[in-house]
Amino acid sequence: MTNVVIFGAPGSGKGTQSENIIKKYGFKHFSTGDILRKQIADQTELGKIAKTFIDEGKLVTDELIINMLDAELASVEGAEGVIFDGFPRTYAQAEALKMMLNKRGTDVAVMLNIQVNEEELIKRLLERGKTSGRSDDNLETITKRIKTYNEQTTPVIDFYKKEGTCVDIKGVGSIDEIFASISKAIDAVR
Ligand code: AMP
Repeated sequence: MTNVVIFGAPGSGKGTQSENIIKKYGFKHFSTGDILRKQIADQTELGKIAKTFIDEGKLVTDELIINMLDAELASVEGAEGVIFDGFPRTYAQAEALKMMLNKRGTDVAVMLNIQVNEEELIKRLLERGKTSGRSDDNLETITKRIKTYNEQTTPVIDFYKKEGTCVDIKGVGSIDEIFASISKAIDAVR
């Protein structure tokens, strides 16, 4: 099983490029953001709690995310590959993912660190906000989400650098150009 972590700030293109990866490689998509939005739409207890964090531009607690991990991982078992999108978002989540994958006899093959400057991120997220219907695509929440990313999520880069699996991807340019770099990094570990 080829496990790929697609990593980057909000608006770095993780969602778009995940779709390209799924189309080309047939991998399964594991997006904690999508899982949480579904919980919110279904009005579950987890969804109600998650919404309070999401609307504030904050991370949902590690405890909540890690607790749902085992059950959610069952849904991608047996896949040829999995693309982890928007997860892990903290060092503790990266450690938890490694433990859970190791338990299943596998590990993260590559972490794609998509790099986009802050000005471009804000521009893209405001643009997306016009059509996404997401409660967190407004300037106030976007600013908070980028701050959260800088403070809590960037340590994940160190985790994968230590693991030796972090590959930097220039995230500004055409979608096709960026996808070509991504494909190269995935092909190197398949
Ligand atoms: P995303 O769709 O990945 O941008 O996620 C939207 C929001 O869901 C984030 O801003 C967080 O509030 C929450 N979220 C998604 N994934 C995680 C995660 N792995 N850890 C904590 N919070 C998360």
